[in-house]
Amino acid sequence: MKDANFLKERNARHLWHPMAHPADMQANPPDIIVGGEGVEITDVDGHRTVDAVGGLWNVNLGYSCAPVKEAIARQLDRLPYYSIFRGTTNDNVIVLAEMLKAFFAPDGMERAFYTSGGSDSVEVALRLARQYHKLRGEAGRVKYLSLKKGYHGTHTLGASVNGNANFRTQYEPLMPGCFHVPAPYPYRNPFNETDPERLAGLVLAAIEDEIRFQDPSTIATFIMEPVLGAGGVIPPHESFMPGVRELCTKYGLLLIADEVITAFGRTGDWSGSRHWGVQPDLMTTAKAITNGYFPFGAVMISGGVAEVFESDGSGKGAIGSGYTYSGHPVGAAAAIATLKETERLNVKDNAAARGDQLFAGLRALQEKYAVIGDVRGGHGLMLALELVSDRAAKAPIDKKTIGTVQRATYEAGAMIRVSGNNIILSPPLVLSEADAATILGALDAGFAAVS
Ligand code: PMP
Repeated sequence: MKDANFLKERNARHLWHPMAHPADMQANPPDIIVGGEGVEITDVDGHRTVDAVGGLWNVNLGYSCAPVKEAIARQLDRLPYYSIFRGTTNDNVIVLAEMLKAFFAPDGMERAFYTSGGSDSVEVALRLARQYHKLRGEAGRVKYLSLKKGYHGTHTLGASVNGNANFRTQYEPLMPGCFHVPAPYPYRNPFNETDPERLAGLVLAAIEDEIRFQDPSTIATFIMEPVLGAGGVIPPHESFMPGVRELCTKYGLLLIADEVITAFGRTGDWSGSRHWGVQPDLMTTAKAITNGYFPFGAVMISGGVAEVFESDGSGKGAIGSGYTYSGHPVGAAAAIATLKETERLNVKDNAAARGDQLFAGLRALQEKYAVIGDVRGGHGLMLALELVSDRAAKAPIDKKTIGTVQRATYEAGAMIRVSGNNIILSPPLVLSEADAATILGALDAGFAAVS
């Protein structure tokens, strides 16, 4: 392999990175990751760290999951590709749909539609929602409601329902008819309400107010993540998602649970919707469905929604969405092997236990370091630290300081993710107690570097 400096120089010269400023990447070259084993990654300089990011919330079973690697290799030999458009299908996608229904999706999700990733899944779900209402004779239901701080990928419909200005402003105009309500985010919200339960009630009232203001007969759907992820890991009070479900039912909106992060054990249950005891109408998945080893996604469709499409005799119920790689046989083989391992290892319980361990450890770090303004977690292996330069004023920490924390944490043995003034932790769900302790120790060293 070429040496690190050579590769970094070529990286800067030849490519752009997702979600990064090109000039920034040229000035501060990214770490070059060349190996992965267990829950650890190795960079080109031979430095090994526990991956507290879990790839990108997707490598739930770690980097050495032999059954998934073998399933991919076997499938490449048997049938490396064929499409599932109309007249053809493959055996893997059938088995996978049964597994998704029987085990992972919340009750009542009866059909699967395959995609190549999370943004695709969101796009398909938002399109299906409009089509559903048209089929039912409510063609006026075209608007989308969502939460500020929500992240729903970067295709144009997804970006339109995204609740973070960074992913929107430079791409305006986006889809008209998309409206956002405040997130149930106790640390910062327009209601100045810090109590999660009371805040959930206020946000639900704001959603109902917005539905009435827009006129329910013009709204197709409410889309939400069961736990806001990329927006900074913001778990709502347990009353929130059931409350959204009630409002959707009351006003005839479809509820889309965007479970691209939360599905398959991350929250400590098999899905975020199950975690909150909610049955969505549509559910998006991707990421950990193949343990991150192959690009793949699935939208799950409830029996009620499916029935409207399947009973249509006009032809308008035909699905006008699909990707060349929808139902890719290699991706589906990877997904079957991943889900078998996910179930066999019962990773949801470990996610809950290790999540509790990390949450307690992060709270202890907050006692020690004044820059930690908020600690969020308590629902499996999705956690965040929000850094501030002044606890009383909650002024977000500057980019340089959080960068120093990240660098020092990395040097001390853990890869963490920085998003704005948040540090996000989403390690593999097979994390051991000792690995979690390594992450906490590395963060301690990271904060010591700026104290
Ligand atoms: N929805 C959610 C909730 C996500 O977290 C993400 C990715 N972080 C997406 C959609 C988009 O997925 P992808 O990056 O696979 O397109």
